[in-house]
Amino acid sequence: MEPAFSRISPVNINGINTNRLMVVLKTTGCEYARQNHGGCTVCGFIKNAVNNISQDDIIMQFERTLKTHDLNDVGEIDLLTLGSFLNDSEVNPRTRVTLLKMIADIPHIKRVSIESRAEYVTIEKLAECKKVLKNKILDFGIGLESANDYVRNTVINKNLSKEDFEKTVMMLKESGCTLLVYLLIKPPTLTESEAVDDAVQSAKYVFSVAKKYEINARVAFEPVFISEDSNLEKLYLQSEYRMLNLWSVVEVILKTHQEGCIFVGLSDENLSKDRMPNSCPKCDENIRREIEFFNKTQDVSGLKGLFCECKDLIGKKKGALV
Ligand code: SF4
Ligand SMILES: [Zn+2]
Repeated sequence: MEPAFSRISPVNINGINTNRLMVVLKTTGCEYARQNHGGCTVCGFIKNAVNNISQDDIIMQFERTLKTHDLNDVGEIDLLTLGSFLNDSEVNPRTRVTLLKMIADIPHIKRVSIESRAEYVTIEKLAECKKVLKNKILDFGIGLESANDYVRNTVINKNLSKEDFEKTVMMLKESGCTLLVYLLIKPPTLTESEAVDDAVQSAKYVFSVAKKYEINARVAFEPVFISEDSNLEKLYLQSEYRMLNLWSVVEVILKTHQEGCIFVGLSDENLSKDRMPNSCPKCDENIRREIEFFNKTQDVSGLKGLFCECKDLIGKKKGALV
């Protein structure tokens, strides 16, 4: 079986320009989504879930991914699933160790990223992962999505309190992991300018928490795209959601890069049917290229130099307001 998604793209590891292999392995999917009417409103991962998939099949997907990509210039592997890597009923402990051992055996991989909902995180599981990876950086990803409680839990339906988020950060610190926090840019109900403010305030909150607990942190912004079969898709098809403009992503980067290390996810994990944030045909490609350059270097000079007349039209289009 093929993984749900895999891609190599630029990334920066502590000042070094390199690339990351991101892979999303097919699993039984997110338990939270199964038990809560699809889970988070913007997420479409459950569509790729496979009932009764075996643990061996999960391992084989990863073996295949490592074989099909040229890893020579890759310094990071993001080992993701359709739900939570630390949920034992999705990826059991033996499988977790096997997958991480495969990465531990690749000497030039410096950083490994995994991701889980907070309720599955324990010190013991983190310690086990760290032990297998030996001296590689274990970067733990958690989807906070927004620092605003209403946006996170009512609009996005994340069901994650700030207390639980910070408890998880404490466990990561204790286990010697680094912190990677996913934040959405433009969840439903927010206008373009509210979305920029929400993303900026959320990044500031994340870096203040990182400072409080003295942990190395990165923010990964996820510009929202329209996932097939998600609740967001319904809103979009009813013209109750307007997609983010890429210029707002540029604005968010320029307003947050001074706070700490920022990454912007530009892929749709094969879920969007090309309903991705964009700008205009004249500047779209340039903006994407400069964002990827920023991801690799953390240098904003290219983003500052971008220009197109379409920028002045953001938020002035007729139709749905949000
Ligand atoms: S965003 Fe994460 S927690 Fe929410 S439904 Fe998707 S996989 Fe589950
Ligand atoms: Zn343009």
